[in-house]
Amino acid sequence: MALQNSAQVVQSLYLAYLGRAADPDGLAYWQGQLDAGEVSESVIKQAIIGSDEATGYLSELDSSEYVRSIYNHYFEREPGDDEVAYWAERVDSGELGRANVAITMIDAASESDQEALGAKLSVANYYSQNVAQDEYDAQQALALDNLHSNEELYAALQQLDADHDAMALEQVGESVEGNPLYKAVVGTGSQTLMIATQQHGDEPLGTEAALYLLDYLAGDSPEAQALREEVTVVVMPRVNPDGFARWQEQVAGGEDVLDPRRNSNDIDLNRTYDPDVPNDPDLAPESAAVMQVVEQYQPDLFLDMHHQNNYRDTDGSLDTLSTLWATNEGVDPSLVETGQRAAVAIEQALEEYDHANLTLYPGSDNPAIGRNGLGLDGTATLLVEQRGLQEMDQLAQGVELDYSALAGALTLESYLAMKGIAQSMGTGEFEQIDPSLALEIPERSDAIDFAELYGDDQYVPAEDEPAMVAEEAQLLGIQQDDVMIA
Ligand SMILES: [Zn+2]
Repeated sequence: MALQNSAQVVQSLYLAYLGRAADPDGLAYWQGQLDAGEVSESVIKQAIIGSDEATGYLSELDSSEYVRSIYNHYFEREPGDDEVAYWAERVDSGELGRANVAITMIDAASESDQEALGAKLSVANYYSQNVAQDEYDAQQALALDNLHSNEELYAALQQLDADHDAMALEQVGESVEGNPLYKAVVGTGSQTLMIATQQHGDEPLGTEAALYLLDYLAGDSPEAQALREEVTVVVMPRVNPDGFARWQEQVAGGEDVLDPRRNSNDIDLNRTYDPDVPNDPDLAPESAAVMQVVEQYQPDLFLDMHHQNNYRDTDGSLDTLSTLWATNEGVDPSLVETGQRAAVAIEQALEEYDHANLTLYPGSDNPAIGRNGLGLDGTATLLVEQRGLQEMDQLAQGVELDYSALAGALTLESYLAMKGIAQSMGTGEFEQIDPSLALEIPERSDAIDFAELYGDDQYVPAEDEPAMVAEEAQLLGIQQDDVMIA
């Protein structure tokens, strides 16, 4: 895997031998030297390995422990015994010097390991380039190790509410199984951005990102305080808590579980928004709560966070995020344009982030999807579909997939997308965006199945997947893609 840029080269050396993102000054110095041709990568490597920080712990590791530490630092996983033996032997025999093991391991890594490393380097790079030197934290996490359970999510929301006067948390409904549904509101501005996450239970990273967003928006930074005066942000995190609990149950080995995408009455919540087919709040109380909050706040934009499968372009890059506005022809064109502006705001927000490959989602005109249905009802909308759904499905089928590095990078992307729209609205730049620029975002790449993508990793085909797709598509009269991944 080619490291994407000189900053990533420097980050990869900090990560391998120090286990952390480069501090801003260190990154700026070495990147500057590298870009100017003053030093080679080898010189930086020797400087880092020879630093007090590195020698302090590297000298205490035998070759096996050394190999394990690089696996953890780079690929965010424990290596197998065979992997440790293979690399330790090459070091012990003198074939590879310790300093050269890491770079050789990158070249030999499986696709999923390379992905994990690319994800960690992107997060590290974003962190180093956006933190002040005196606020830099060497312990900054570069991966997302755990998803919040429902109970943990509610506790986290309560904690944010307790920590921040600027945030108001209120229960606005409950799921079929009685789990609370919350709205968290930050800001008093005239522009209102509403964000819903995880209408599909097995699409969780928007929820994780929303917690970071709320913490940022309600925080004390001058930037956040100024933004709160211009924008009101209303977040409904994890609209389908019952589905998520079922997904967790599957991951833990539970079988015969109702599809975690759906609510506990077997309803796809994102098919309940057609204004001509009133939603039954007994069957889908979750989307009834969403509609009620939309009605209350009349948001200038409704942002709907989801996950999709894997798509890879001809250059080999995977799409990280696909997006689409309302496409039903009955939606007021000015609302469509607002959604398009939001898509461009996301594109702008992700420009400085290495782990971002934005494309257009090929969605249908189905009026029952939130993106179209809320649009028909007078609200501008934008759908976000991040990659990750296949990984979630594999986890649910019992595959031991280490997803934490990728999850960290996708969560940061989601956070940057949400925050970028809020900031664009807050500065007034949003209204200046030419909506036609959204039409220039490339179309989504070709689907790549999990087996092909991670050919050297275990893969379990989804049971009865094709039958379900066909049956549902026929039932709903819509595109297959929308059944599986919208
Ligand atoms: Zn979805």
